[in-house]
Amino acid sequence: MLNEILERYWGYKSFREGQEEIISSITAGCDTLALMPTGGGKSICFQVPAMAREGTCLVVSPLIALMKDQVQRLNSLGIGAVAVYSGMSYRQIDAALDNVIYGDYKFLYVSPERLRSQLFMARVAKMNINYLVVDEAHCISQWGYDFRPSYLQICEIKKIIGDVTTVALTATATKEVAEDIVHKLAFKNPKIISTGFERKNLSYVVRKTENKFGNLLRICNNINGSGIVYMRERKKCEEIAKFLNANGIRADFYHAGLSGRERSEKQNLWQKNDVRVIVATNAFGMGIDKADVRFVLHFDLPESLEAYFQEAGRAGRDGKRAYATLLWNENDIRRLRLIHSVNFPETDFIRDIYQKVFLYLKIPYEEGGNSIHLFDVYNFARSFSLNVTKTYYAIKHIEEQGYWEFTDELDNPSRLLFTVNRDELYDLQLKNVTLDTFIKAVMRIYTGLFSKLTPIDEEYIAKLTLDSADGVKSKLKELADVYHVVKYIPQKRGTFIILKNERLVEPNLRIDEEGYLFRKKLFAERIESIISYVKNSSECRSRQLIHYFSQQAEHDCGICDVCIDKRNRDNYPAELERAAGNIAAFITERQGRGETTTLEDVATFAADNRKLYIDALRALIDTGKILICNESLKLRV
Ligand code: ADP
Ligand code: MG
Repeated sequence: MLNEILERYWGYKSFREGQEEIISSITAGCDTLALMPTGGGKSICFQVPAMAREGTCLVVSPLIALMKDQVQRLNSLGIGAVAVYSGMSYRQIDAALDNVIYGDYKFLYVSPERLRSQLFMARVAKMNINYLVVDEAHCISQWGYDFRPSYLQICEIKKIIGDVTTVALTATATKEVAEDIVHKLAFKNPKIISTGFERKNLSYVVRKTENKFGNLLRICNNINGSGIVYMRERKKCEEIAKFLNANGIRADFYHAGLSGRERSEKQNLWQKNDVRVIVATNAFGMGIDKADVRFVLHFDLPESLEAYFQEAGRAGRDGKRAYATLLWNENDIRRLRLIHSVNFPETDFIRDIYQKVFLYLKIPYEEGGNSIHLFDVYNFARSFSLNVTKTYYAIKHIEEQGYWEFTDELDNPSRLLFTVNRDELYDLQLKNVTLDTFIKAVMRIYTGLFSKLTPIDEEYIAKLTLDSADGVKSKLKELADVYHVVKYIPQKRGTFIILKNERLVEPNLRIDEEGYLFRKKLFAERIESIISYVKNSSECRSRQLIHYFSQQAEHDCGICDVCIDKRNRDNYPAELERAAGNIAAFITERQGRGETTTLEDVATFAADNRKLYIDALRALIDTGKILICNESLKLRV
């Protein structure tokens, strides 16, 4: 039956390694934590069982982009799915939740912040939830590399939806994190299933180099097929993409500073292989589903092995040989250690940012609770002459304390306000029948249009007025520009800040210093872990990574740089002998044609194996088997 569902909806013939075990655990009603590498196919593990049961599956997911992506994918398979996240208007959320209650929806995706809203809790109580799923479950742990405080509230929702089977999924969890997940989600009959962290077809290569550009070019030229180059800075992405293009490699760049449209265009071109190499910040990757990525190259050191493992793991999802190369030098290590102080600023700085945000938004003390504002960190930082990155992290840390929520970039809904009173509006309505009907409809849908800029959704209005979204927009523009009766702010992409509390005076601002310092320390430890990873060139890379995730590797991978070096070293005497034989044959052959042989000739002949051949030649000369006269090599017979 489950196989049938897999084939009918997804068109896949069989489950992958590990999927069946996870699925049986879930369907048997065990609360299950599934550990499976990126691209291993975690989604299917809960989606198939959810399809097999009556009711709706509630999925908590941290990133809006990720949610939208999954919803779209399910819809395209003919499965009803919908997402609810911060930044959607009350109306939109209301409509989405109603659809789930009354319609045939199998999946409801929700961001953790929305779980606790009154509206959500009231509606979810009316739903028949079959499973509670927590995706990217490592976010729940303070021990984890991507802790999100709002995840701590997930367990509360069980009080409302009842005792449903809970499923947690992640690609990266150390032992502490795994235990923490089970504990924080209050698992009953907990079952932890790990398919292991081994990636048999992925060759990890770590290379210390002062010439990253040269290495980058070599890798792009030597490995055919699609690739991702990760870097830390947005600016550099563009620069390096240009460099690659100038060298005949079709490349493009990607980072969070681009508009949503630009990003999806670039992603599509890469997905279709019109662009071979994408140069990106870590904003690229989540939810990307491309099986034939042949290499992932890290141009800079990532901040943790967890992040590295996730990013590198995007290569070779199709099971064919792929490469994950990490370039580094001492300078990177110095920089990485500096990042620590930027990501975890002093608490005084954080407290100061709290007040500055309110100043910037022109909100006096004890006001501003429950309000939402477009908020551009760059502008904000610039206007107070602050370091942008440090400021960004301060804002995120305040978010962790629950005072506000700072969203991913998303579509900020259009807003509408009537700027004239009802009588004046009435004059216009008398004169223009079309607009009269339209205004009445809008006023029926939204309340408060006369008192504040109200979020509206043109598509929703269009649906209810049997119009097109463009038609609605042009009517709104007409009302604004021709009749001057409304203020209309069309939809805008951006990040915004949702203030949960009113502005507090300084002594009332509570920041959990102990927790903060704890996480600061863990962050430093993670940085040291990746540093010792790159510096340890005596232990198989795959073994090191697996060990970091608290498991034991049964054998060396045989394909990482450490394993290959070791093999070359072990085989060196035999290789030397073979090379010596080749050199002798090469010289003999040239002598036969009456040509002399120089050192240069041997070097050219050696091609990529220069070092080996020079060693072999030196041995031949040392043992007197070859003589040098007049710069040419002579074989002694
Ligand atoms: P994860 O969440 O573990 O990173 P996903 O759930 O996004 O991975 O799945 C990665 C890809 O593998 C998706 O394209 C998915 O459709 C595909 N996939 C999953 N299970 C199977 C299967 N049994 N057969 C073939 N493809 C699968
Ligand atoms: Mg996933």
